[in-house]
Amino acid sequence: MVIAQSPPDAAKVLFGREVAPTAGPAWAIGAYERGCLSGAVALPADGPNWQVMRPSRNRAWGHPVLIALLERLAAKLPAEAGWPGLLVGDIAQPRGGPMLTGHGSHQIGLDADLWLTAMPDRRLSPTERDEMSATDLVTADGMGVDAAWTPQHRRLLETVAREPAVARIFVNPAIKRALCREAGSDRGWLAKIRPWWGHNYHFHIRVSCPSGEAECHDQVPPPSGDGCGKELDWWFTEEALHPPPSPPRRPLRLADLPHACAALVAVRNGQAVQVPMQVR
Ligand SMILES: [Zn+2]
Repeated sequence: MVIAQSPPDAAKVLFGREVAPTAGPAWAIGAYERGCLSGAVALPADGPNWQVMRPSRNRAWGHPVLIALLERLAAKLPAEAGWPGLLVGDIAQPRGGPMLTGHGSHQIGLDADLWLTAMPDRRLSPTERDEMSATDLVTADGMGVDAAWTPQHRRLLETVAREPAVARIFVNPAIKRALCREAGSDRGWLAKIRPWWGHNYHFHIRVSCPSGEAECHDQVPPPSGDGCGKELDWWFTEEALHPPPSPPRRPLRLADLPHACAALVAVRNGQAVQVPMQVR
C-alpha cells in the first residue's frame, strides 16, 4: 500500500527493501532526517538489561557508537535510575535512510526510540515483542502525566540526558513539564530534554555525530537553560495541542539525499561500499 502510493525512486522504497547492512567501517552520512548509514551493526535482540521490541520490523540497526552507548546505558540503569532495563524500539534500517512507515528522522543510525515501559523480569517471546502495547504516560487532554508516571521515569531520563554523547532527548511536552517540576537545583541536563508531539509511549534519544565523520551533520545544540519557561508554555496552547493538519510532504527521492547514499542501495548484501568522502 505504502509502496504503491510512492514514486518508484522514493528513497523510502529503496532503503526500506534492504534487509542487511553494507560491510566496512561505519559512516553516518547526512542529517538525522535526510541521510543514510554505511557499516551499521545490530543491537542483539537480548542483552542482560535490554530486549529489542518489534523484531519483525528489522530496525535494530545503528551506528556502532549508538549501539555501544545503548548497551552501556542499559547496564547502569538498574543501579543509577532504579530502572530494570530497556525495551528498545526503532533504531534504524540496515542501511539507514527514510522508512516506509513512521519517523522523519532515524536515517543515519544515531537516533533510537526507547520505551517508557520498564523491562519485565522475564524474556518476552518474539510474538509478545511484536504485539505488546507500551504504557501511555500522558493524560487524554495532553496537559500532564498520568498515574503511570513514577520517580524512576525521571531518573531514567535524567541519567540518559547526562550522557555526554546524547545531544537531545524528545519527550511529550507533558513529560517535560513533569521533569521541570521534579528536577532539583541542578538543572543543566534539562536543556537536552526537548518537547515534541507524540512521545508519550517512548522517548527518543539522539546522539551527536561521531568525531571525525565529516559527512555527518550535527543539529545545532539546543538553547542553554532548562527550557521550562515560556518555550514550554507554548506547547500547552490550543495552537500546539490541536495543530491544523499539514499537507502531505513529497517523499524524499534518492537525489534528495547526500550523493554517497546512492551507492548504499546499489551494493549487494555483505559487500562493502566505498563512500567518497568530501573534505569540508
Ligand atoms: Zn524516534
